Amino acid sequence: MRPFEAVQMYFHRAADELELADNVRTLLIRARREVQVQIPVEMDSGELHSFIGYRVQHNRARGPMKGGLRYHPEVDLDEVRSLASLMTWKTAVVDVPYGGAKGGVAVAVHKLSQRELERITRKFVDEIHDIIGPDTDIPAPDMGTDHRVMAWIMNQYNKYHGFNPGVVTGKPVEYYGIPGREEATGRGVGILTLKLLGRLGRKPAGTRVAIQGFGNVGTHTAKYLHEADCKIVAVSDAKCGYYRADGLDIPKALRHTLEHDRSICGYQDADQITNAELLALDVDVLIPAAIGGVITAENAPRVKAPIIVEGANAPVHPDADDILDKAGIIVLPDILANAGGVTVSYFEWAQNRQFYNWSLNRVRQELEKTLTNAFEVVWEMSKERDVSLRTAAFMLGIDRVARAATLGGIS
Ligand code: GLU
Repeated sequence: MRPFEAVQMYFHRAADELELADNVRTLLIRARREVQVQIPVEMDSGELHSFIGYRVQHNRARGPMKGGLRYHPEVDLDEVRSLASLMTWKTAVVDVPYGGAKGGVAVAVHKLSQRELERITRKFVDEIHDIIGPDTDIPAPDMGTDHRVMAWIMNQYNKYHGFNPGVVTGKPVEYYGIPGREEATGRGVGILTLKLLGRLGRKPAGTRVAIQGFGNVGTHTAKYLHEADCKIVAVSDAKCGYYRADGLDIPKALRHTLEHDRSICGYQDADQITNAELLALDVDVLIPAAIGGVITAENAPRVKAPIIVEGANAPVHPDADDILDKAGIIVLPDILANAGGVTVSYFEWAQNRQFYNWSLNRVRQELEKTLTNAFEVVWEMSKERDVSLRTAAFMLGIDRVARAATLGGIS
């Protein structure tokens, strides 16, 4: 099953509960615009290389379209389309005034020099600058992109359209960014994990957590939950994984990644485990925070954690979701669990438009407030309608978007 088909399955489950008419479903499922561009770039070797870039603008009923840019070799139109649609539901669930979009370039970032990365980014902006903008579509970081890439995007866009810092979020703090954006997704995953534990009558102290993915999301989630007294017993990245029954020394693991090119490989004082073993660990909370599609119908029966919090986008395949649901495993879905990133993107965009700087404290407080409100509504809806948290989150998102689309009128 391709990623967009998977999102459609989740969409229809919620749309059935909402008794949404077929014509409204069609309107909400399809992307508004899909753009594919060629990005010819001269590599450092002098050779010409041509990359493919995408921007899918899914829905703008609730505001300018919003969503990250992914640089990864497996990026394709179907994946970007699915992620753009998830952004529409995500921004609606946390009630930030945006629609949804997503973009990407099929490229292996680790094989590029910094100059090549910059050239690809600027060329990509040359191709899409007419369809993005602070009032239309606002990119942000995602897998493979970071604050440097966002700075180049703003800089290149401004060459065409004049000074417009709100065209992109996730910029460096020193270059029109906001404090707390980098930690926001992981911190949000941490905040919501604690909310969920609280609702389930569990205490954070001693809660055993396994985190797959030790990049931007995984590291900040680990830090937040470690500080909240949880025991992070396992972490992994694409190449290496480590387990320690008594809990890993998270500050030490974070230092290790900083000293080893952001990799956890070579970490001492823990047993090595594979990513497959990590997903099947006997822990209280499993947090897949790496790539999509890691929990499948094949490995779902081996999951022992009673709680899964989706740090990544679409880590659980719909067939696996059914298996987990039947096994009584509670899944906090991506469109709520990892919405901290886009929430603080909204604060950054608001700051850029007001020319009024926000403090880190204010960002953290407002983040917690926004996520808590969304969590409470989703939790209540799931109880009231007797549906999973995923279906409840999709219902909330779809209902808000459908109302805006209808109120605005079609013609
Ligand atoms: N790429 C992130 C996501 O999937 C953040 C998007 C944004 O900040 O616009 O939610």
